[in-house]
Amino acid sequence: MRPPDRSLPRPRRRPADDSHAVFLIEHPQGRVLVDTGLHPAMGHDPASRIGGLAKAFSFALGPGEDVGGRLAALGVDPAGLHALVLTHLHYDHAGGCVVPPGVPLYVQAREWEAGRDPEAIATHAYVPADYAQDRTVHLLDGGHDLFGDGQVLLVPTPGHSAATSPCC
Ligand SMILES: [Zn+2]
Repeated sequence: MRPPDRSLPRPRRRPADDSHAVFLIEHPQGRVLVDTGLHPAMGHDPASRIGGLAKAFSFALGPGEDVGGRLAALGVDPAGLHALVLTHLHYDHAGGCVVPPGVPLYVQAREWEAGRDPEAIATHAYVPADYAQDRTVHLLDGGHDLFGDGQVLLVPTPGHSAATSPCC
């Protein structure tokens, strides 16, 4: 069996449109933000964040369209979140950077290690500044029931990155 291809996408003739999903989960014990999308600078100067990879995609991110703007429009204070879950650390999932350090982060341990490994950073879409904030980090080794009631489950689905873990 061949190992999964974790290489970066090759630039195409025309930049591909790239979409970036962020989810806000309402749970009786608190709100959970799943991923943070793009850094606000990606809307006007993506090369400043991801270098040459910016040529492979087109980004349409206007003022107020980043996660901070979206949460503000919903009246959600990021400081009041119960948890931040990063499915993985690629720039389009971890770039939002608006969640204050007091909000604990949940991420797979293997992904966290990859996001700090110089070789992985050089060959994958990791931007360490995106997740460099000093915060409590819960490193997971497999599945995790966030509230212990079976309502918000973090399920590892490796392959796309070192250890992707969507939330369901
Ligand atoms: Zn990714």
